[in-house]
Amino acid sequence: MSTKNLLRPDLIVSGPVSNLDLGVLRGRGIAGLILDLDDTLLALGEQRVNTLVSDWVIEARSEFTLWIVSNNPNRLFIEGIANSLSLPFINQAAKPSRRALRRVLTEMGLPASQVAIIGDRLLTDILAGNRLGLMTILVEPPGPSRALRGSWLRAAERFFFPAMRTAPPSGSS
Ligand SMILES: [Mg+2]
Repeated sequence: MSTKNLLRPDLIVSGPVSNLDLGVLRGRGIAGLILDLDDTLLALGEQRVNTLVSDWVIEARSEFTLWIVSNNPNRLFIEGIANSLSLPFINQAAKPSRRALRRVLTEMGLPASQVAIIGDRLLTDILAGNRLGLMTILVEPPGPSRALRGSWLRAAERFFFPAMRTAPPSGSS
């Protein structure tokens, strides 16, 4: 493990996950994608994934192995979203714990170096991914999030980790 800042994403996407260029992942040798759910695939408070995001998932699914890994304990809700996208999922994952992510790597049959995690939170998604050696990608919610708590946390994370604001917009290290 290098001295890399564990809270620093490899890539910061301006906008939601649907803005993420799959060619960038291809160029990095990525074969598997681990997707956060709340405020990544859909904004908190939304009941379904919007068309831009579902179209992106359908395209990504044709080329990469996708899993949803969520800390949300509401299994029925996550199962409904996962089924609508034809994706396998893990709920109550307890990120930044690496346990659920390790399980997904095993299911994918891929090494950490070929897997990216995509999420909206530094202290869960990005930290967990960096601890495991995944490519880490920070995105914004795909709509207005109803989670004041979530947006407050994101603002706090950016305040306490100002390096974030100057990170390059595309991963080129
Ligand atoms: Mg999230």
